Amino acid sequence: MYQFQSISQYHDALTLGQISCEEVVTHFLEKIDATKELNAFVEVFREEAISKARELDAKRNQNTPLGKLHGVVVSIKDVICYKDHQVTAASKMLKDFKSVYNATVVDRLLSADAIIIGVCNCDEFAMGSTNETSVYGPVRNAKDKNRISGGSSGGSAVAVQAGLCMVSLGSDTGGSVRQPADYCGIVGYKPSYGTISRYGLIAYASSFDQIGIFAQNTDDISRVLDTIKGSDNFDSTISQQTETFVPENKDGSRQIALFKNALEYASLDSEIKKAIYILSDKLKNFKHHVVEKNFDLIDYIVPAYYILTTAEASSNLSRYDGIRYGHRTAKNEQTIDKFYKANRSEGFGIEVKKRIMLGSFVLSEGYFDAYFTKAQKVRQMLVNQTQHIFEEYDFIMLPTVIDTAGELGAMKKDTMGMYLSDIYTVFANLTGLPAISIPLFKHSNGMPFGVQLVGKKNSDQQLLEFSNYILEHFKEKADV
Ligand code: GLN
Repeated sequence: MYQFQSISQYHDALTLGQISCEEVVTHFLEKIDATKELNAFVEVFREEAISKARELDAKRNQNTPLGKLHGVVVSIKDVICYKDHQVTAASKMLKDFKSVYNATVVDRLLSADAIIIGVCNCDEFAMGSTNETSVYGPVRNAKDKNRISGGSSGGSAVAVQAGLCMVSLGSDTGGSVRQPADYCGIVGYKPSYGTISRYGLIAYASSFDQIGIFAQNTDDISRVLDTIKGSDNFDSTISQQTETFVPENKDGSRQIALFKNALEYASLDSEIKKAIYILSDKLKNFKHHVVEKNFDLIDYIVPAYYILTTAEASSNLSRYDGIRYGHRTAKNEQTIDKFYKANRSEGFGIEVKKRIMLGSFVLSEGYFDAYFTKAQKVRQMLVNQTQHIFEEYDFIMLPTVIDTAGELGAMKKDTMGMYLSDIYTVFANLTGLPAISIPLFKHSNGMPFGVQLVGKKNSDQQLLEFSNYILEHFKEKADV
């Protein structure tokens, strides 16, 4: 039975011979079988995981030092390539497609002796906030099976929430790690842009995408991050900068900015708002400086995000034409245009099509300047204004989401509502900043929620340390 609080506790038990990797893998496999209705996994690597566990048990018995992720049971989102294994982006378009190479993160996990137990369900091509656009059907929240997991990395979040693995990798273009983490009551971290290689990650919007990590605590996240981050010859956007050090005040306190107009946003659930104000007071009582500020550009965040990401998506997804990649129609089309059209109409789901069309529109002649160029300018203004804030503050505090996990199906007819609900998470992707969702509270509807912290560019380690401090001191004692 796996009942450790962290990977380091698990490693202690392994070293003392109290448990074996094989026992642990068997435990997770049994749990995955017992929770099939959650629909968190699209594929489980049963035999492979057991044989890797046996190999590691034998290796340990020869007294070789433990790899950093020795025997750590990991799952990955269905947009991360694992050689000779299926990767489908939860889309009919990539049905039965097998990766021909490993993503850099997969190579690094395996070299650190992690065990990849399976691939997790997600929204189609990582587009969505509910994990209901998947060709495999929705993922259910383990706290309440009639509710959504959040998206797009819903399967990865539920895999950690329900104890089906120790840590999980997702991808975060506009909140797809932090939002489902918030809905599931676990920690979800998105690194500074350029921290983790995107090589082997199926692209949604390349200048926003980052692989992120789900875990029960920040120590496990740091350990996985240390293993998978860093320069990679296959990804030239990896930052060469080392960690930016953000010194504490002399008394050990921190400067925190709270966006007041973000908290006054009409759609924000009143209990979430109240909990964040109370947390802010508690932080002040612990001598931290929490200052309410207005962020002028708040109303432009979601429109800029959806213009820029759909533009990038329309270009990234053009490779799925049925020739280079993807579903090929059985129809006998007479022209190449009709052939492409049939492949793409049959292969893509409705949400993906919507975004490709929107993206093509904002990039089209005559509209390019009105939409795309303007959104790029907004992005630059956001970066500048945020840099300004970080001259005075160490962290920005925000809600992660406007609400807690809703009923399955409730968002389906409300695309605009779904887009607008991304208001608090897309900010960090537009600006390339590190951000994390920390589970702290329980709503009167029984569902968990947390708080989001955004850090200075490349101050990821300190963001994780401060998040750990918040978890230790301010987590509501209720079982979330
Ligand atoms: N909900 C956001 C979207 O639909 C986030 C997606 C993501 O981060 N992959 O675009």
